[in-house]
Amino acid sequence: MPAESNWGGNVAFTARRLHHPESVAELQEIVARSPRVRALGTRHSFSTVADTDGEHVSTSRLPAVIEVDRTERTATVGSGLRFGEIVRAIDEAGLALHNLGSLPHISVAGACATGTHGSGTGRRSLAGAVRALTTVTADGGLAEVRRGEADFDGSVVALGALGVVTRLTLDLVPAFAVRQTVYEDMPREEFRENFHAVMSAGYSVSGFTRWRERAVDQVWLKERVEADGTEPAPRTWFGATAADGPRHPIPGMPGTHCTPQQGLVGPWYARLPHFRLEFTPSSGEEIQSEFFVDRRDAVAAFDALWQVRERFSSEVLIGEIRTVAADSLWLSPAYGRDSVAFHFTWAPDAEAVARAVRVVEEALRPFSARPHWGKLFTTPSPGALRELYPRYDDFRALAARLDPSGVFRNTFMREHFPD
Ligand SMILES: Cc1cc2nc3c(=O)[nH]c(=O)nc-3n(C[C@H](O)[C@H](O)[C@H](O)COP(=O)(O)OP(=O)(O)OC[C@H]3O[C@@H](n4cnc5c(N)ncnc54)[C@H](O)[C@@H]3O)c2cc1C
Repeated sequence: MPAESNWGGNVAFTARRLHHPESVAELQEIVARSPRVRALGTRHSFSTVADTDGEHVSTSRLPAVIEVDRTERTATVGSGLRFGEIVRAIDEAGLALHNLGSLPHISVAGACATGTHGSGTGRRSLAGAVRALTTVTADGGLAEVRRGEADFDGSVVALGALGVVTRLTLDLVPAFAVRQTVYEDMPREEFRENFHAVMSAGYSVSGFTRWRERAVDQVWLKERVEADGTEPAPRTWFGATAADGPRHPIPGMPGTHCTPQQGLVGPWYARLPHFRLEFTPSSGEEIQSEFFVDRRDAVAAFDALWQVRERFSSEVLIGEIRTVAADSLWLSPAYGRDSVAFHFTWAPDAEAVARAVRVVEEALRPFSARPHWGKLFTTPSPGALRELYPRYDDFRALAARLDPSGVFRNTFMREHFPD
């Protein structure tokens, strides 16, 4: 049976078969005998990045390894595990991941492969924590690459193009507590004039807007605090008011699906994501897009989007604005620049979304916006991608060297990284 579609339902997979290997040896055999194969994580990408016209290998039944090394401050984890499945073991060892995305439902390898990120000034994407990777390569062999080695920076955000990752070693930090407060109705002028102060006011900050008159509907402030005895957060902040109950970023959706708010202090893993593992994240019926610009252009990019909002806002369920620190991973959308990411959760009307995405892309073009690989985008062309990613050709060369016969290539790679 093939996996029929991605989580969002907007990509019908073309794979002929779906394998569920239960051991690395079984996975190696499948890869060795398949002319075309691709890893499938938890299927949460909205682009066709995970598709293949060959065979899919799901990582969901690979060994659920979680080895926490307190001395080295690392966790080595099985690639198919979801973040929500590794965080408790890490916390129990008194350690933490530096950051998490909005949802704990995604696989560790799938998230790192697309440059998935959370928010926070100074916080790199989730791939920024990767110290080493073990991968089943095109010939079915096993290869390990570690930070500091020549191929490493090209191998972490690799879009599934270099092989099937079986385990990852992640850097950890000492465990910490977080207080989450949702502020509502921040006036647009307050937000844009104090943009950097707002976005760096906490460990992780997200601004949510539907790009309508109410300007910034919610700001989620996640502050690192002592585990006990913290003062409650102030009631008003930059013209916004602390919410009087649990909120969901999408109006009308239940706040109980989200991590605890209202200043309640809790562990890092239960506050950094917005959504709780036991509920469907976000709306469940949606398409997403996201674009990264240089953080120095954040306000100008915000203004550019605001000017054309009437041409895309009717499709927006919610937009989110986050910060991501620069890294050195060749295909990371935050490569070499501290970034601000403009995210859009769209109502699931593919044609209307495509029109809206083009409006957003046009508005952000002057800012050399880089699209999130795992979300829907219509441009840039390969030539423009080469301009956006200084190591674009190095990545193509790495993929050609490690996968000379194109076992892991798919339509997405051929389109964006042609021979
Ligand atoms: C509700 C929702 C909320 C989201 N929130 C965020 C967010 O906060 N921040 C953000 O940046 N993104 C977010 N995303 C996007 C999501 O994080 C990415 O699309 C991510 O790649 C999904 O991981 P996955 O395991 O589902 O990967 P998949 O979609 O299954 O695969 C993505 C890519 O990874 C490759 N891959 C998967 N496993 C492996 C492996 N073992 N080895 C090699 N390659 C592999 C696949 O081949 C494919 O190219 C969200 C998506 C949804 C649906």
